[in-house]
Amino acid sequence: MVAEKAADSTKESQENTDVLSSTRTVVKTALEKLGYPDEVFELLKEPLRMMTVRIPVRMDDGVVKVFTGYRAQHNDSVGPTKGGIRFHPDVTETEVKALSIWMSLKAGIVDLPYGGAKGGIVCDPREMSFRELEALSRGYVRSVSQIVGPTKDIPAPDVFTNSQIMAWMMDEYSKIDEFNSPGFITGKPIVLGGSHGRESATAKGVTIVLNEAAKKKGLQLKGARVVIQGFGNAGSFLSKFLHDAGAKVVGISDAYGALHDPNGLDIDYLLDRRDSFGTVTKLFNNTISNKELFELDCDILVPAAVENQITRQNAHNIKASIVVEAANGPTTMEATKILTDRDILLVPDVLASAGGVTVSYFEWVQNNQGFYWSEEEIDTKLHEIMIKSFNNIYNTAKTRRVDMRLAAYMVGVRKMAEASRFRGWV
Ligand code: GLU
Repeated sequence: MVAEKAADSTKESQENTDVLSSTRTVVKTALEKLGYPDEVFELLKEPLRMMTVRIPVRMDDGVVKVFTGYRAQHNDSVGPTKGGIRFHPDVTETEVKALSIWMSLKAGIVDLPYGGAKGGIVCDPREMSFRELEALSRGYVRSVSQIVGPTKDIPAPDVFTNSQIMAWMMDEYSKIDEFNSPGFITGKPIVLGGSHGRESATAKGVTIVLNEAAKKKGLQLKGARVVIQGFGNAGSFLSKFLHDAGAKVVGISDAYGALHDPNGLDIDYLLDRRDSFGTVTKLFNNTISNKELFELDCDILVPAAVENQITRQNAHNIKASIVVEAANGPTTMEATKILTDRDILLVPDVLASAGGVTVSYFEWVQNNQGFYWSEEEIDTKLHEIMIKSFNNIYNTAKTRRVDMRLAAYMVGVRKMAEASRFRGWV
């Protein structure tokens, strides 16, 4: 009896860091609040399709290595599915499933005619040659070619993938399809049908919602002290945008350490010295830990790296009054509650990072119509969408008396739930 009790309390004391189960919990609550029957949740709690592939690649040393890859397609009731492909050693099936649900929510929030999808390959691109990466990218496309395509499921970049990888993937698909298929994938180089503003779109979207959040808190971006975790695609462009807007970036980090300067870091220098994976702190001796980074004195904190970074361990010590999630899933459910209770304005991932998929949609539309827009047109359209989406969620949170994450899920899930019902699925 005593032993049982002890076991229970250990269980109780463990924080839930399983991103799929926490996402499901919030989706369920959002659907209940909107008044949908349980069968809608039964449909949406899992991707409709999940493909696992094994990709053999002859490495530079002559030995064949077999990589595991995934593609999850969450729900295609609204339109074709859409979402990036991540290359990372920690990719798991569960994570890819959760990421595909988040993509559906993002598409719903910014009102795109898409459902969500996500892909991933378990690999470490930092240790692979250019030739090996090309072979892996092409092998992945051959393996999933049956279920993807410009009107079925449109991939894009994600963690550790970039426009070169999109170019190889598009070329491989064009060979299979026997057709030049720029609309197969987004995030391509401009010369291959990429869109102006796509590379910096996630960071641009974050900057726009951050600006809106600052207004709500009566904070000026000019002079505001910002800490950014992660110096990859989102983190690096974001540091530049905020620096240019007059904010003081007082802390940044990469996978190896973090840097701090209360007077503002030299962002131009750091951007110049970072490598293509966003590594820069190795060049410095006076680094601080990730833990210290989150607890720095600042006004705005932006986690722009990976999942489960703000937990019940550090949520109480965060000094920022605004937290904007540029990464997918950086805050646990318990930490969300702690931050909300502390009156910290949390701009959730499915809203804050939706700028990337929004400009991906613009890219796909341009590919389909064969007529291309200027950078200014992209920028204006992105601003309109992000500002409207932020205010929609902010007002939903206020009127329905729910936290920002639940409000975002309620907005994000509604169109897909409606579309699935109209189709007669549930
Ligand atoms: N990988 C990005 C995301 O998580 C972009 C997806 C896309 O452009 O389709 O939102």
